[in-house]
Amino acid sequence: MGYFMKGSCAVAFVALLGYLYRDTFDPASLANAKVLVTGASTGIGEEMAYHYSRAGAHLVLTARRENALLKVKVKCLELGAKSVSLVLADMGSSVDRERVMEAAIAALGGLDYLVLNHIGSTPFKMWDGDVNHTRWLMEVNFISYIHLATMALPQLTESKGSIIVLSSLTGKVGTPYTTSYGATKFALDGFFWSLRHELAMKKVPVSITLCVLGLIDTQSAMEKVKDKVSMSAYPAQDAALAVISAGTRRVREMYYPWYVGPVCFIRDWFPEGRDWAIQMSYS
Ligand code: NDP
Repeated sequence: MGYFMKGSCAVAFVALLGYLYRDTFDPASLANAKVLVTGASTGIGEEMAYHYSRAGAHLVLTARRENALLKVKVKCLELGAKSVSLVLADMGSSVDRERVMEAAIAALGGLDYLVLNHIGSTPFKMWDGDVNHTRWLMEVNFISYIHLATMALPQLTESKGSIIVLSSLTGKVGTPYTTSYGATKFALDGFFWSLRHELAMKKVPVSITLCVLGLIDTQSAMEKVKDKVSMSAYPAQDAALAVISAGTRRVREMYYPWYVGPVCFIRDWFPEGRDWAIQMSYS
């Protein structure tokens, strides 16, 4: 295909995306929804908790830091959450994960949305050969997601519910300084894509939404990329709303901000140009 054709296809694709993903989100559909959000003590998870609260959902929030979670809980109740329960847990521990799911089902009396959002802390630097760190990160960022999803499936099947998986552009396109982190996000894509097929083949009425995000202005992300990436960061509050909206609409994949979908679509069209542009954006 010539460059002109590829360019035209890209423009047509962006227009199609705009049409397909026009926001038909109705927050009222989340009133009384039973929602478990992981990694809810800060960042995008915290912002999602506030959006669900404004819509009048019942929430279970989990992370490791009690003080941070308590502050989020107070604000959620002010914003209109019907109920908020907290569970302190380390997602690197399978015992903790089981405790989270048991506590969530008990507190909510079921589950409509499982929002898998937490990530373990990882340095933003070139690969240094630390395989043990990668193994641990896989446990926190990947194994815990599939463990929680597996435990939640019976409840989600009953409620015709949804699994929302937070991923990243680095889980679709390789970028420098993100070897282990990117690997965990690519793994999520592979696992949940396959699972989505299997649920459809078995007629299990549970949707899976993979959320592919670009750079978002959370404190942890900004601290990591400072001085290393020349790229705009988009607001966590808007990213959180886009994620929730996509989950409610049961779309397979959502892209935020605007450039992420086109980048994924043309990812393999100009490999040399792509890799040059990526390497130029990092120092
Ligand atoms: P943050 O680093 O701001 O928040 C991470 C959350 O995970 C915190 O609530 C933290 O709470 C919790 N957490 C960390 N370690 C553990 C652990 N071992 N066990 C349990 N909870 C843990 O992340 P962001 O808000 O920036 O990102 C949220 C999601 O969005 C992630 O999946 C990320 O990959 C994705 N994303 C973010 C982008 C960005 O630029 N910000 C870009 C692309 C994707 P606590 O410390 O209290 O445990």
